[in-house]
Amino acid sequence: MTPCSQLTGLAIDIGGTKIAAAQIEGGKIIKRLQTATPKGSGFTEWLDCLPDLISQFPAGTSVPVGVAVTGRVDADGCLQAVNKQTMKQMPSEPLAKLIEQRIGRSVTMLNDVQAAALGEYRLNQQRYASPFAFISISTGVGGGIVAGDTLLKAPSGLQGHVGFASSRFATSTCGSGRFGTVESIASGTAIGRIASELRGEKTEAPAVFAAMRSGEAWATNIVRISALAIAEVCSDLRAIVGVESVALGGSVGLAEGYLDMVLEASADIPEIFRPAIKPAVLGHDAGLWGALIEATSQKQLADA
Ligand code: ADP
Repeated sequence: MTPCSQLTGLAIDIGGTKIAAAQIEGGKIIKRLQTATPKGSGFTEWLDCLPDLISQFPAGTSVPVGVAVTGRVDADGCLQAVNKQTMKQMPSEPLAKLIEQRIGRSVTMLNDVQAAALGEYRLNQQRYASPFAFISISTGVGGGIVAGDTLLKAPSGLQGHVGFASSRFATSTCGSGRFGTVESIASGTAIGRIASELRGEKTEAPAVFAAMRSGEAWATNIVRISALAIAEVCSDLRAIVGVESVALGGSVGLAEGYLDMVLEASADIPEIFRPAIKPAVLGHDAGLWGALIEATSQKQLADA
């Protein structure tokens, strides 16, 4: 395992809002650039941003290149939308191949939240005990699990997608086709949808949090249900894979007041089922770090 202080290579993070790339040398980001993801376009247009972006990084061709991408990446490197309402127009060919065609470099692919899980854990090992889970509560709810120093992986690429676990609080079918998922009750999208239905006017998650902070009960109730669903998923992770520590990330996960509500909800759960729950600290670059950590490991295996 390469220590984080020796990581060297390129990392790319392809998301619905931005596409970021970083050159990392000796465990430091020495150059980082990003571009806005083209709006209202398909994945091909997103990938077409890569040649320009990557041409600005003069890294040697032998260094590993890791890519984090929103969506489920299966063992063939194909990208799949789990929730078809949040991701549309997926390419049918393996994504790694499509990227390699554009940047002329072979790449290692990971789901962005799983990459963030690996980055968050490996760069903050004093903060978290293993097994570790990262849960991002944002447009959707994603996750990744690290045991030892290794990211849990499966052929389906579905591992760690805790947003598609079931929640007793959920009452609708989500875009995955599964009824009653955590994502359908706990995500920022869900918070906005429930608030809009309740109030009869479009209300986004930040407005719900603002109303909660000024003491409005309707808003507190909506956020509390989300927090209860996340607290229970943390306990499920502990019961199923023995998770010791959890980091919460994403715009909702890190919104002021949210973690306190999750901790409050956890307090009612028997102690044995309570992992330590903390706010993630690595921020927006966690996916970049995780992507490069994974690419470095894969390259070492291939070179061995
Ligand atoms: P991304 O999924 O790319 O992280 P955003 O951070 O823009 O996208 O938003 C994701 C979800 O989080 C949306 O549902 C949005 O309304 C919600 N959100 C964004 N900022 C906040 C905030 N400060 N407080 C609560 N919810 C937020």
